[in-house]
Amino acid sequence: MIVVGAGFAGLYMVHKMRQAGRSVRAFEAGSGVGGTWFWNQYPGARCDIESMEYSYGFSEDLEQDWDWSQRYAPQPEILRYINHVADRFELRRDVQLNTKVLFAHYVETGGRWRVETDDGETWNAAFCVMATGCLSSTNMPDIPGLDSFSGETHHTSRWPHEGVEFIGKRVGIIGTGSSAIQAIPIIAETAERLTVFQRTANFSIPAHNGPLAEETSSAVKKDYQAIRALNRERAAAFGINWGEPGGLTFDSTKEERRQAYEDRWKMGGLGFLAVFEDILMDQKANDEISNFVREKIRGIVDDSDTAELLSPHHVIGCKRPCVDTGYYKTFNRDNVQLVDLSQAPIEKITKSGLVTGGREYEFDCLILATGFDAMTGALHSIDIRGRRGQTLLEKWSAGPLTYLGLGTNGFPNLFTITGPGSPSVLTNMVTSIEQHVNWISDCFDYMEKQGHRTIEASTSAEQAWVGHVNEIADETLYPTCNSWYLGANVPGKPRVFMPHIGFPPYVEKCNEVAAADYEGFNFSAD
Ligand code: NAP
Repeated sequence: MIVVGAGFAGLYMVHKMRQAGRSVRAFEAGSGVGGTWFWNQYPGARCDIESMEYSYGFSEDLEQDWDWSQRYAPQPEILRYINHVADRFELRRDVQLNTKVLFAHYVETGGRWRVETDDGETWNAAFCVMATGCLSSTNMPDIPGLDSFSGETHHTSRWPHEGVEFIGKRVGIIGTGSSAIQAIPIIAETAERLTVFQRTANFSIPAHNGPLAEETSSAVKKDYQAIRALNRERAAAFGINWGEPGGLTFDSTKEERRQAYEDRWKMGGLGFLAVFEDILMDQKANDEISNFVREKIRGIVDDSDTAELLSPHHVIGCKRPCVDTGYYKTFNRDNVQLVDLSQAPIEKITKSGLVTGGREYEFDCLILATGFDAMTGALHSIDIRGRRGQTLLEKWSAGPLTYLGLGTNGFPNLFTITGPGSPSVLTNMVTSIEQHVNWISDCFDYMEKQGHRTIEASTSAEQAWVGHVNEIADETLYPTCNSWYLGANVPGKPRVFMPHIGFPPYVEKCNEVAAADYEGFNFSAD
């Protein structure tokens, strides 16, 4: 098996194959393992899922031995954890770093994948597994003059590992998504001046991060596997501490609702949106909780015009909500300025800054916090060809077509871990990754027993699945805004809701498919 990528997904795939005594090799473009946690080393980067949940569950010894220091782990600690896993399970000998996969072509005669890497090597394997990540392909904005800027330019998702010094510098940052919202408060502390260029305001919930108490950690460790099992019953496969949602919003009185929002705001994190179960189903329910957040923003930000600009107007939750430490209050600092791009987009980047609304803003350092070509970008950056030389790009020209987010017709023996059509980004990614890798691994055992050499999603199963994923999304408020879930952040990308909503029903379906001899997949012996 060839595995592309050595983040959480690729490493676990390697481990699983090794355990089964199979031959596996992973290629990783980075000079280290860790995937998203290797590349996104911008200041303030941390996970928005609590540390005790955002970790592998496959090894009881590992989960007992590892200690997290904070409620939400910072990026360096997660990267240390991934490196520890790579060492502990001796995964490095099957991971080839500094190696980018350029081509992956299915050779019909013999039914093998031929993979070419940027060091000029060619590899052959029966199976090819894309562990390329959902948020790994950088979205570089197409702004005129970007190359003409004479100062330093950094994208948050390709941050220099030696760090960037901001002392005495004028800094401009484009974007106000999760990455920017984490970086802005930290950069503002040392930069001489920070200018934030915002196209769309985003909802952000306070993290209330802090040291992880020993008692909390040991209480979880006592019952770790049971807690993880309970999490797998939750829609997003995490949030054990959130308690149950309080039913439908308007089944509670106005006072009860207010109290519930306040309590969840104090609790912090993504659990805020789990306060009632219809926040992403009922527009009125969503309006009320959105108003609550806007009120909070007005209470934090001193200048009323700035507070108004920072107040989002889309459905809360239809874009991934951000989790922050001191974001809104950063705009009370004298050295921070917010510039609204919603009415006047960036006209051009110049040698010394950028122009919007006919005015030039000057800075020494430009930060692009413009996000990712999510879910499909990393796959399309590789020349993947299936039967009859069809490219994946052609096949998915109107949006990704997969069965269970795991396979696509015309591309036998190619698996996508947390691919489009699976719950992936709407869940705890580590849990989704483990579920996919385990499923793929079981499928191999089955194929071996049955004497099958190839597996391929059928067209009808794939069509039905894509329809099903969209039907679920259409019953919610998710499709109402220009999110990266829909591909709407990348000009020209087909607008299709990509993740499957709901972890438990998805897992149930995967298990049913496996139990019914992999119904919806076709096998062949040659
Ligand atoms: P993002 O959410 O896509 O945000 C990109 C930002 O750049 C948006 O504000 C966007 O504005 C702006 N932008 C893009 N192109 C622009 C242009 N040409 N002109 C002006 N503004 C432009 O990207 P992200 O912040 O990197 O986060 C992506 C996802 O990664 C998150 O949603 C989350 O799932 C994950 N992430 C998680 C964490 C965490 O665990 N805490 C941290 C970072 C990232 P518009 O909104 O108008 O498009």
